[in-house]
Amino acid sequence: MSAEKLWVSIDLDNVLAATDPLIRELLASRHGLYLQIENVVEFDYAMCGATREQSDDVLHFFHSKACAAVALEEGASNALLQIQRLYRIRIVTSRPEGTRTLTEEWLVANGVVFDQLVFTNEKAQLCLGSVALVDDSHANAVDVASAGVPVLLLDKPWNRKPLPDLVQRIFSWPDGVRWLMIPGAGKE
Ligand SMILES: [Mg+2]
Repeated sequence: MSAEKLWVSIDLDNVLAATDPLIRELLASRHGLYLQIENVVEFDYAMCGATREQSDDVLHFFHSKACAAVALEEGASNALLQIQRLYRIRIVTSRPEGTRTLTEEWLVANGVVFDQLVFTNEKAQLCLGSVALVDDSHANAVDVASAGVPVLLLDKPWNRKPLPDLVQRIFSWPDGVRWLMIPGAGKE
């Protein structure tokens, strides 16, 4: 009997989709607010120079329309092609369920390979049994690691905080692919 492929769980925004650059473009075009990525040191634009109203407006516009045009994160598409040779891919996102159609269309249009797409705010529960979660959220990383699942945390200004044992910081998609595809790589 051939063994079933194991699951890898992968976040969407700022991991597969280059969401932050688009959000900052929208803050500039809709509100005249110019932020650099280095300014985004918290996972909340209202804590990084935007008002709560500006942040809410831009996130609403992103979820209702602009997410259809977000760029791919560098290296993401190629990484998934490699990862899918060994694993099943579950994309886990905390986007509102109402973005499902736009999100599915975006994944197809961008040639993103995956086996399952899940909308949830409960990543720790969902990731049980996954080989790893790839995410950019420090809070998600801590949560999922505390459930015993390794996390590859894609380095961003908003996640540069101390990491628990099961969380490994990666600096690019090739780093993540190496960890997932090469036995022992980065797991010492
Ligand atoms: Mg994310």
